[in-house]
Amino acid sequence: EEARFLAAAAHSPALAAAWVVQERQQAGPGFRNAADTDTTTPSGAAWADAVRGALPARRLGARTTLDSTITTTAQVSTILDRAAREGGAWSAVPAGQRADVLRAVARSLEAVRRRLVTVACDDAGKLPEQADAEVSEAVDFATYYASLATEVVPGARQLPPRVTVVASPWNFPIAIPLGGVAAALAVGSAVVLKPAPSARRVAAVLAESLWDAGVPRGLLQLAVLDDGPLGRDLITDTRVEQVLLTGSAETAELFRTWRPGLPLLAETSGKNAIIVTPAADLDLAAADLVSSAFGHSGQKCSAASLGILVGSVARSARFLDQLVDAAASLRVGTARDPGAQVGPLTEEPGEKLLRGLTQLEPGQRWLLEPHLLGERLWRPGIRAGVRPGSEFHRAEYFGPVLGLMAAPDLATAIAWANDTAFGLTSGIHSLDPTEVQEWLDGVRAGNLYVNRPITGAIVRRQPFGGWKRSVVGPSAKAGGPNHLAALGTWVPTPVAV
Ligand code: GLU
Repeated sequence: EEARFLAAAAHSPALAAAWVVQERQQAGPGFRNAADTDTTTPSGAAWADAVRGALPARRLGARTTLDSTITTTAQVSTILDRAAREGGAWSAVPAGQRADVLRAVARSLEAVRRRLVTVACDDAGKLPEQADAEVSEAVDFATYYASLATEVVPGARQLPPRVTVVASPWNFPIAIPLGGVAAALAVGSAVVLKPAPSARRVAAVLAESLWDAGVPRGLLQLAVLDDGPLGRDLITDTRVEQVLLTGSAETAELFRTWRPGLPLLAETSGKNAIIVTPAADLDLAAADLVSSAFGHSGQKCSAASLGILVGSVARSARFLDQLVDAAASLRVGTARDPGAQVGPLTEEPGEKLLRGLTQLEPGQRWLLEPHLLGERLWRPGIRAGVRPGSEFHRAEYFGPVLGLMAAPDLATAIAWANDTAFGLTSGIHSLDPTEVQEWLDGVRAGNLYVNRPITGAIVRRQPFGGWKRSVVGPSAKAGGPNHLAALGTWVPTPVAV
């Protein structure tokens, strides 16, 4: 795919420029992505064997530390006392030493790669290859933030937050918590990791691996607690000087309601579209739509939820058949099935997702109707006839359902792609440089992808973060060069030094 794009780009300055938009953070001296360097990662089939061998016990995680479960307000307070003490001491450790600890964390993660993969499959419903890619991303976060740690030049009165809460999601239970923890540790803050309850055992394995690498237990604490009153106790305690959240826009708003003025950096929801024009390589467009929409059952905030088909593409029976065939032939199954391509939903679908999986709005029809095949295992669905302004056009469903819109021209398609509250990822399939340029000039989203899938951002090459309602706080993409600097600016009031 890349070779094909580069061949097309060779004849087209605009396409080459678009490629630069995606790849402008290409790895440079001193940093290589784990997936490029790792030669020990088992192949997909070998992973499946390993996971099947390990899973039946259903006791994975039994060795993991879950004594971090919090049940009382007093426990929340004890954790924060300890974190505030340790945070003060850690911030005085020279940045170079903090970076060394993070490099040790990267090695420690590699050492427990297999364990992380199996627990993520068992705990959070991931498939082995997806979980494996997440371990590589986590390693990348640790090594990349280690290299950035020594580059951050604090402002005159800038001190790191003493205590950071990392509130992490279940859909990327390895990479996202690790990224938040590594960033906070890199700038000199203590961390309380509060994982999504449905990914708590993965978080326990992660925490153990950090402790094994030499991160003091008080500096990184795991707080397994249900969202609710205890979560509120944690977020509203003023010893918490920063919260890094990856979750829904609603959760970000809830946190802000609980604590107005909360120093919050949140990466939230998306409603992401891929535009396909008549100048696209339609075979590639169909494949990329399917992988972007249905990878991890659509449970990514980066996932494609809309395909906006321009002009004749919307009427092309060949393209639509190909799209539907590709989606229908995806093998849906759990990590125990070595051939599974689409895994289970991590949690039972809520009301909105159920509606997305079962109910059509006026003018819509199923090209492929979603089906429940087994426990939380859904065959993906594709609906055609999504109208501008409809619920499906605007709402994030976070599941295996894709909606198609038919746009008369590219300008309209771009306007529709932008016409949501969110702006996280966006894509175009077109081999026409003028079209790609028009899209680049008009699209309003954080991560832009040309002639490729719109998920799977890679640390440093594609810093990840959105615009509009997809982000709260300073624009400081995860895995990008200004992420740590943004974390260091939260000191709420002058601190006596
Ligand atoms: N970073 C992931 C990607 O690029 C998405 C993260 C998320 O869904 O929160 O696909």
